[in-house]
Amino acid sequence: MNRPDSNSLARTLLEKLDYDQLTNCMRCGFCLPACPTFKETGLEPESPRGRIALMKAVADGLMEPDDMFRDQMNHCLGCRACEPVCPADVKYGQLIEQARDAIEDHPVHSPPVKGIRKLLFKGIFPHRNRLKSLGRTINFYQTSGLRRLARGTGIMRLIPKPLRDMERILPDATAQGVIEQLGCVHPAKGTPIARVALFRGCIMDVIFAGTNVNTVKLLAEAGFEVVIPPEQTCCGALHAHSGELELARNLARINVKVFKELNVDFVVSNAGGCGALLVEYDHLLHEDEVWKERAAWFASRVVDISKLLVEHGRIPAFADSAATVAEPMIVTYQDSCHLRNVMRSGSVPRQLISQVANVTLQEMKEADRCCGSAGIYNLTQPEMAGKILEHKMANVNGTGARYLLTSNPGCLLQMKLGVELHGRGEPMEVKHVVDFLYERLS
Ligand code: SF4
Ligand code: SF4
Repeated sequence: MNRPDSNSLARTLLEKLDYDQLTNCMRCGFCLPACPTFKETGLEPESPRGRIALMKAVADGLMEPDDMFRDQMNHCLGCRACEPVCPADVKYGQLIEQARDAIEDHPVHSPPVKGIRKLLFKGIFPHRNRLKSLGRTINFYQTSGLRRLARGTGIMRLIPKPLRDMERILPDATAQGVIEQLGCVHPAKGTPIARVALFRGCIMDVIFAGTNVNTVKLLAEAGFEVVIPPEQTCCGALHAHSGELELARNLARINVKVFKELNVDFVVSNAGGCGALLVEYDHLLHEDEVWKERAAWFASRVVDISKLLVEHGRIPAFADSAATVAEPMIVTYQDSCHLRNVMRSGSVPRQLISQVANVTLQEMKEADRCCGSAGIYNLTQPEMAGKILEHKMANVNGTGARYLLTSNPGCLLQMKLGVELHGRGEPMEVKHVVDFLYERLS
């Protein structure tokens, strides 16, 4: 093995990658059919097995971590569809985060990209006050006539297409998050089953505050007392997936401290992307002697709302009044990759949807395949994300559904964009499962 130069990316990769995980891969290829980037391209380096081989070749000093290496690490969606199908239980998600963390120690970003990363990861996501200001600003843009003006004058054509697409489908933003609307404590209806804490998210509470509100009300309806600690912060998932593991660890320590002090029975997430990192805080902080035990306590209590309702709640009756026994409402469900592949809770939202009277859940082909959202992947890798979305929408359209449901805000936005760009021309609403259920409480 050639020892890489001590200042090189190869050396950092060698230090950060879990070498045992690299050697656990037995190159069987079972993961290949599950991988969206391999399915799109048919190329080995675009597969989990290929990416692991590239990481190992660099760690072994057999190849330089050149531009192609960096590109392959960035092309991965981080959807982790390769993990449940792996007979060797390779922790691919950890490997790709470690590889990206090493790459970010040797960044090659242009000054504007560097500035945007710093602004988002350090300047906005961790700060509730700044998120509220962002909500206020976007709301002003959306409601004051500025949006109409910007669209009417064609000035939007000056901004990159992925951002333009996002602007088209962004829901109404607000500075009034779930705490501003409901307060910090919400009693259970009837005898309380358990005391739970809501993880409200960062951007989630600005552009999907209504879903957070409905989450609390649904939990209360199902018998849970809900507390929402105002000191909580961003989960750090976008940081971890973008190679900023140390920033993610700092955020994790804040959340662990805040929620541990509440000593609740469960910490509830309604966003698959956030929940998947929260549930792995034990691994994120496993080398931190001061925090690892508290992080394990926290991770063991994290649960997605659908799972909590199905396994512990008094599930209320749901009915779609617009549908009838003769003409049931057709609904389809797009998996949140992280809810399915990391939290292993893909079946519970389906169980809840199936309980709504006069609703038929029509599975789409490849519902478990990523929609191309993947955090900010649709902004950083728009070409691949666009191809994946087009294939996804062909499957969605094949169901004839009136509603397209999902369990993660990123997937929801991506699917809204999909309906705009590739919808079948008939009305189709895209909703979070929680909103769909709450609106059908009998
Ligand atoms: S399924 Fe697992 S062991 Fe097999 S090639 Fe993929 S990552 Fe390696
Ligand atoms: S995380 Fe998703 S895109 Fe990345 S290698 Fe695994 S299956 Fe492929």
